[in-house]
Amino acid sequence: MIRKVRSHQTQNENLLFERSSPGKKGYQLPPLDVPGVDPAAALGATNVRREITDFPEVSEVEIIRHFTRLSTWNYAIDLGMYPLGSCTMKYNPRLNEHVARIAGLAQAHPYQPEELAQGAMRVQVQLEQYLAEITGMDGVTLQPAAGAHGEQTGILLIRAYLESQGDARKKVLIPDSAHGTNPATAAIAGYEVEEIASNSEGMIDLEALERAVDDSVAALMVTNPNTVGIFERDIAKAAQILHAKGAQLYMDGANMNALVGIARPGDFGVDVMHLNLHKTFSTPHGGGGPGAGPVAVKSHLVPHLPIPRITESGGRLSYQYDLPQSIGRVRAFYGNFGVLLRALAYILAHGGDGLRNATIDAVMNANYIRKGIEDRYELPYKAPSMHECVFSDHKQTKAGVKTGDIAKRLIDYGFHPYTVSFPMIVHGALMIEPTETESKQELDLFIDALRSIADEVENDPELVKTAPHSTRTKRVNETLAARRPILRWQPPAEEKQAAD
Ligand SMILES: *Cc1c(COP(=O)(O)O)cnc(C)c1O
Repeated sequence: MIRKVRSHQTQNENLLFERSSPGKKGYQLPPLDVPGVDPAAALGATNVRREITDFPEVSEVEIIRHFTRLSTWNYAIDLGMYPLGSCTMKYNPRLNEHVARIAGLAQAHPYQPEELAQGAMRVQVQLEQYLAEITGMDGVTLQPAAGAHGEQTGILLIRAYLESQGDARKKVLIPDSAHGTNPATAAIAGYEVEEIASNSEGMIDLEALERAVDDSVAALMVTNPNTVGIFERDIAKAAQILHAKGAQLYMDGANMNALVGIARPGDFGVDVMHLNLHKTFSTPHGGGGPGAGPVAVKSHLVPHLPIPRITESGGRLSYQYDLPQSIGRVRAFYGNFGVLLRALAYILAHGGDGLRNATIDAVMNANYIRKGIEDRYELPYKAPSMHECVFSDHKQTKAGVKTGDIAKRLIDYGFHPYTVSFPMIVHGALMIEPTETESKQELDLFIDALRSIADEVENDPELVKTAPHSTRTKRVNETLAARRPILRWQPPAEEKQAAD
């Protein structure tokens, strides 16, 4: 019997602090050949850090192995497909990373004088222009740090505009298929939120919209394609209904991966929208950022855009702060510059045709998966899918198996789960977004996995209900994990015994 298994096989990795032993070092320095000094005497006592004590002391190989092992536990886009719907977890070409690491750009400092920052400013101006062209809008701010931050900025722009017209309004309408950040944004900006029901096709019900829009409504916030992966066919009519009553149309553009190069929100009546560069424009995401949520607006909203704005005169760029109608700053400095750079690199490397092809492939891949499993899983809304398809667990619940169980079983097949139980209007949702970067082979494996799980649900539902079986941590009690989280590593009971 093997008494102790190496930790990289069991994924039992203790903390660096627990590996520490006094005097171990990860580096070697030659003997001091200058007189030693007391740091407190040299730097002043207040400049010497005291609050960190008991720092782990480990050797170089221990620290390298520790972090290398940890890095192999995570599922990552560089390992396989990441079918999380609504997230657009596409593969990010290494070229973008290369560009973001070019020394002059990577080391640019926000306090650099403008005359030494012309290149970095040119990057921002160019990206603004491309995003305006892609969205069909008139002005862009790159400052918001994420999608939700873009929403907030966009809604504040609408409020500033309406107030400048002497027409402050109090309500924002939001379809029931909306991303959760939409109602949160409207509420934080001080608006009342009113929900608009979807029709049986999963689209905005125009009659319900018509009834809801009056002169107290500031805007409709709509995600398009919506969270069921369907293009709002009547979006231009919705825009007309709103505009006729002096209200604005906000589009959550986090799903632009389905539209770039094919349709422009500015052409179908959108007044303001945000983009998620960390989704559509290929910045690595997951793990909390950084991202970027640029906001694009029509001309009537341009005067309200956040400061600073970049202006050009005689070929020289400068930041402008004195813009009395601006909503002010939404962020320190000029946005997440590294993310902006990656987006520009992605746009330039693809070119117009390449971006359009990416969109077509993203839509094709989602529909390929849809076709591949639609006889085994319930498809609640039948309108054509855009970049993602949304199924429900309706057929599987008859055997007591829910979407969360199927997702956990997918882990045993080597895939990251899809998005579980979202959008809310689909009970027991399986939301799948493959993105354009997956090959037919990978999609076929994914389809096979989901078909095989559907068989298992029929033949051996317990197997699915108790998944995952191949991971170090098996099914966790999610309620207990949320209420009483154990944040410190503890050896599993059987390993303790083996070690004893
Ligand atoms: C991801 C997403 C958001 C939020 O974007 P963050 O960058 O996570 O703040 C908003 N709306 C939709 C539809 C999304 O998919």
